Amino acid sequence: MNIPSDLDISRATALKPLEDVAAQLGIGAHLLEPYGRSVAKISLDALEELPEEPTARYIVVSAITPTPLGEGKTTTTVGLGQALRHLGKRSAIAVRQPSMGPTFGIKGGAAGGGYSQVVPMEALNLHLTGDMHAVTAAHNLLAAMLDNHLHKGNSLGVDPHRITWRRVLDVNDRDLRNIVIGLGGRADGTPRQTGFDITAASEVMAVLALSTSLQDMRQRLGRIVVGYTRDGEPVSAEQLRAGGAMAVIMREAIKPNLMQTTENTPVLVHAGPFGNIAHGNSSVVADRIASRCADYVVTEAGFGADMGAERFFNIKCRTSGLRPDAAVLVATVRALKAHSGRYKVVAGKPLPAAMLAENPDDVRAGAANLRKQIDNIRLHGVSPVVAINAFPTDYHSEHDAIREVAEAEGARVAVSNHFLEGGKGALELAEAVVAAAEEPSGFQLLYPDSADLRTKIETIATKVYGADGVSYLPAAARALDGYEANGYGNLPVCIAKTHLSLSSDPTLLGAPTGWTLPVREVRASVGAGFIYPICGEMRTMPGLGSHPAAESIDIDEHGQITGLS
Ligand code: ADP
Ligand code: MG
Repeated sequence: MNIPSDLDISRATALKPLEDVAAQLGIGAHLLEPYGRSVAKISLDALEELPEEPTARYIVVSAITPTPLGEGKTTTTVGLGQALRHLGKRSAIAVRQPSMGPTFGIKGGAAGGGYSQVVPMEALNLHLTGDMHAVTAAHNLLAAMLDNHLHKGNSLGVDPHRITWRRVLDVNDRDLRNIVIGLGGRADGTPRQTGFDITAASEVMAVLALSTSLQDMRQRLGRIVVGYTRDGEPVSAEQLRAGGAMAVIMREAIKPNLMQTTENTPVLVHAGPFGNIAHGNSSVVADRIASRCADYVVTEAGFGADMGAERFFNIKCRTSGLRPDAAVLVATVRALKAHSGRYKVVAGKPLPAAMLAENPDDVRAGAANLRKQIDNIRLHGVSPVVAINAFPTDYHSEHDAIREVAEAEGARVAVSNHFLEGGKGALELAEAVVAAAEEPSGFQLLYPDSADLRTKIETIATKVYGADGVSYLPAAARALDGYEANGYGNLPVCIAKTHLSLSSDPTLLGAPTGWTLPVREVRASVGAGFIYPICGEMRTMPGLGSHPAAESIDIDEHGQITGLS
């Protein structure tokens, strides 16, 4: 089958004026701040004008544990949002802004794909309205003010060995992971070792995603902890008097970006926090706006349900107060086959040819992962809907195998052809989602704020990941004791582990049992409002591969981008 490229489909889309797109949600043109023709920011006055109470059913799209290729959460989110409109519902889609690191690295863009895309995809994937750069600038201003504070006498007594604030850039650059700054003479600063993370990993990005309003963002930026004094007291951005200026840099970034899909369904694109060391969900502000003017808000949560959905429930919904009505679990034939343990899927490489043969037994052999992820949604009192994201290489017998597993668990299930057919390909899914969402939501948080940090970690590890227990290296135990003493014990936890397994070992597929979660280190995002235990090696600055996507990207004589996928 010859499917046009995502870029070609995006370019062939007839864009509607953004006023018309916004009007679908009852958002007036006076609330739009256009950035060119295809993107507009939505003024936060919308929060004042729209009714107080949410009107929308709130749907989160998550997945089974993915292969390194991704299983189609974004395409399914977009396809479902489009399909709901076919059913006569006013729907709004809310997704993250992609980082340019992966766009030029391995994964390519993140606008969805096929006939379920956010368009224009090049606008989404490249710069958009500059929010990423605002995060970078605000983050690095704080870094500069901290180093200046050291240089000018360090009246706060910051211990140079206990500085946790690094610098950020929106580019994959492994050579910046560890650097020495302040070289030169006395006038050139104080030499110390530090490094760069990718902008998506910035706590400022997590703050942007979790803030409920401009003032809330201002307060959270001030609460960011940059390091500790020699006595172990935390030093905040507020103490460095940086919070106000950071909020000023971020004043436009806090407004969600309105775009549209290949079928002109409204999309709010806003914030792009990392899915490992941060919660990997788009912004609370966008969802707060959309939930007051749509019938359905469909939003994506990064990685599998053990990570993105768990954090969506226990971090994002805890912060926003919004209650989810249903959760979609994207499942694919290729991921279930991979969970059988019979194949090895490698990022950036084609699937092993043997995986493409008709083999429903392989699918069944990987079913344990789907069962556990269904369970993980139900743990939160939310109704799961399994979306079988159909690929052109799938067989009916393989879809049936997934359907049987889901039905045996009592979950709703639908095959979705949104990639090739757009919204009309996802009608069965949309109907299942409506049926699930119309049931009363029994949503519940997995743990109360008041539980101590170890209890929170152990609850997630045993109930969601299926671990027997948790072990802490001495440094992790010390950090946890310190955070409890500093009064951060009431924060939720965001466990940083691999997304390629329910466990912390990426080679363990299916639903591993009989293992212990090893917490190596624990860090705090006090401003964003979570504690993050780190299990295994977590890269916060990716590198480029032997043939980065950037090598194939170019611009032609008409100024058209080529090779972006
Ligand atoms: P996720 O959001 O889960 O990472 P994406 O929606 O970005 O996944 O999809 C991952 C990759 O798979 C993208 O390149 C996308 O175009 C492709 N893809 C997703 N669904 C399909 C499908 N049904 N058929 C073909 N390709 C697909
Ligand atoms: Mg995605």
